[in-house]
Amino acid sequence: MAATVIDGRAVAQEVRADVARRVAERTSGGARPPGLATALVGDDAASDVYVNGKQRACAEVGITGFDHRLAADCDFAAVAGLLAELNADPAVSGVLVQLPLPAGLDAGALTALIDPAKDVDGLTAPSAGLLAQGRPGLRPCTPAGVIELLDRYDVTLEGAEAVVLGRSQLVGRPLAAMLLERSATVTVCHSRTVDLPAVCARADVLVAAVGVPRLVTADFVKPGATVIDVGINRGPDGLVGDVDYEPVAERAGAISPVPGGVGPMTIAMLLRNTLAAAIRSTADGELSRAQATGR
Ligand code: NAP
Repeated sequence: MAATVIDGRAVAQEVRADVARRVAERTSGGARPPGLATALVGDDAASDVYVNGKQRACAEVGITGFDHRLAADCDFAAVAGLLAELNADPAVSGVLVQLPLPAGLDAGALTALIDPAKDVDGLTAPSAGLLAQGRPGLRPCTPAGVIELLDRYDVTLEGAEAVVLGRSQLVGRPLAAMLLERSATVTVCHSRTVDLPAVCARADVLVAAVGVPRLVTADFVKPGATVIDVGINRGPDGLVGDVDYEPVAERAGAISPVPGGVGPMTIAMLLRNTLAAAIRSTADGELSRAQATGR
């Protein structure tokens, strides 16, 4: 039986529409719209496309975009100065530094300067720590998008065997923590895993985030499993994922395609995080005002 195709474009559209509705509700009640500031250093063509996409998506849902561009040869202090300004600006609810940065700029050190309350990419150590401890916080967008897809398609996570292929800070690690938070039994695989196909074949839910075109072949997949492909690989055949789609779709119960699966979810979750950060900052402001005034 052919697998159910997990339609990330449709789910992302629903998430965006929901964010737009909630933003409109807030602003019609007199609140300032959420604001997302992006910082792009240099002129990497792919990063330019990503940042433009994020800014366009903000405009579509009523989030104010602040699009900051710095020259490729700017120094650490220039980026740090911009981040300090954005951290202090009450119109900015979320801040992100577009990665990768030009060689010579320390991405980890710069990301660490983002106010954790505005860390809408969920990549700072405080955000990762909250996730590791299972406490509420801003979650990284791509793994959050994977969880959203699984939820929208009613995939059972509690008690399920979940295998995550890849252990990056951006995708694999946070996704493993999120699946654990949802009471899946989680295994994380990487380049040193022995007998990858056998480990993956245990999975009820298999997520591939490796960056190796079509690494996951049908023998990696338990019949009926849900397979989520995070990979984006550009090659002679165009855009392909980490999953060998056609044969795996013959065996899986559900599968996300590339393109049109996880990809569209990342920006949708960024918008949702920006709204969440704005709501949180207002709630915190009200709390501290109440504490200050005793009311
Ligand atoms: P990454 O930082 O390069 O990490 C890749 C991970 O895969 C590493 O943990 C690596 O293991 C593991 N790996 C590599 N080759 C392997 C192999 N042959 N067998 C088993 N494990 C292997 O990549 P990433 O940032 O997580 O991204 C992964 C993929 O997702 C890429 O294609 C990327 O373009 C895509 N992506 C998509 C989105 C989206 O919005 N859809 C967002 C982010 C990333 P080691 O740790 O042992 O090296």
